Amino acid sequence: MSEKIKSLYEKRKQLVPDALGVFNPSTAVRAKGSIIYDADGRELIDFAGGIGVMNAGHNPEPVVEAIQKQSANLIHTCFNVSLTEVYLDLAEKLTELFPLGEKGSKVMLTNSGAESVENAIKIARMATGKQGIIAFSGAFHGRTMMAMTLTSKTKYKTGCGPFAPEVYRLEYPYYFRYGKGITEDEYLEQQIQKLRDFFLYQAGAGQIAAVIVELVQGEGGFTVMPPQYLKELEKLCRDNGILIIIDEVQSGFGRTGKWASYQHYDIEPDIITLAKSMGGGMPIGAVVGKQEIMDAAYAGTIGGTYPGNPVCCAASLANINYMESVNINELGENVGKIVRKRFEYFKEKFESVTDVRGLGAMLAIELSKNNNPAQPDAQLASDLIKKCEEKGLIIISAGTFGNCIRILSPLTISENLLNKGLDILEESIEELTNK
Ligand code: PLP
Repeated sequence: MSEKIKSLYEKRKQLVPDALGVFNPSTAVRAKGSIIYDADGRELIDFAGGIGVMNAGHNPEPVVEAIQKQSANLIHTCFNVSLTEVYLDLAEKLTELFPLGEKGSKVMLTNSGAESVENAIKIARMATGKQGIIAFSGAFHGRTMMAMTLTSKTKYKTGCGPFAPEVYRLEYPYYFRYGKGITEDEYLEQQIQKLRDFFLYQAGAGQIAAVIVELVQGEGGFTVMPPQYLKELEKLCRDNGILIIIDEVQSGFGRTGKWASYQHYDIEPDIITLAKSMGGGMPIGAVVGKQEIMDAAYAGTIGGTYPGNPVCCAASLANINYMESVNINELGENVGKIVRKRFEYFKEKFESVTDVRGLGAMLAIELSKNNNPAQPDAQLASDLIKKCEEKGLIIISAGTFGNCIRILSPLTISENLLNKGLDILEESIEELTNK
């Protein structure tokens, strides 16, 4: 680490609370496409994308131009005070990408993923007149109070309670970790039985407003929802007037090879939550839901000063149009194919790489000691992040045990750069495990 970067991290230590974690020891001064230039002018391949924000790559020209043009004309009004057309244009675009219900979708813009989640829950409660919310083990929904309550990893919550009442938890199917000694089908059968028993042991159906679920868990380590389980969950919800909220904050906008992960499944959610790659780096998110559900919210209960800020809207609209023009979903599929192939090879080559999972380009490897799923190797993940950074690659971890390495690179990354990044990862695993 250079003296310059050392001094930046010392300054960080002095000014910023330690609790604001360091997920990667890199710095950034500027970026283009899939490359970040650090404070020493080094080129780093970006496999983190600002945690899943840069699906379209860094600074696409149309997004930069839209920000420049909009900021020269109008930076802020508050949508409730003076209507701006760009808010409506973006809302219209989102209803086209995510049509929900017979009457079509309605859209509420937000500033972040957590804010989308908060509002989705409020709307679901108002629409059903019920309070209970079901969330899953391994879930991550953000760090505001309701979102943090829904988030499962206790390390992200220590000392922050009391948490919101009326939140119940179901186990997310995670065969690799918890399916020891039984087949995947047997494990799934057990999980489905637990799901069916929920109303017997945890809360009555008349109490539950909604289920919130990630179909590929982000922070949870890219565990993928089995379709049979989702079918059963959907049936339970439909039979009992429970709304289905799918959190697409990390999985949206081409990451899984579709605009949203639910589009891989035979399901129509009532509400979805969006953010991250929707804005290409600008802080913007959305709640998109069936009209009658969105309209059930009482006046004054949703909104804020900044949601739908015109500069963020213009950036988001340009970003989505750009993603459409480059066919982001096809790019996502291609990146996914290349990474999966290489990850499967890692699994064969390295004893420490014990699982490969994900959907499309939302892919991760899980690292374990002694080839044992019950012995997660978070130290290796942490060492890998440092080693890769030294060699010019930014990666981040995931998982309740911190032992997964996930890929959230731009989907516009060239094949050459993608392979170069994967080479660095392979070389680094080799050096750290001596295999
Ligand atoms: N939901 C999911 C699935 C996420 O992955 C995240 C962030 O990682 C959030 C919600 C929270 O988003 P934000 O950090 O923008 O509040």
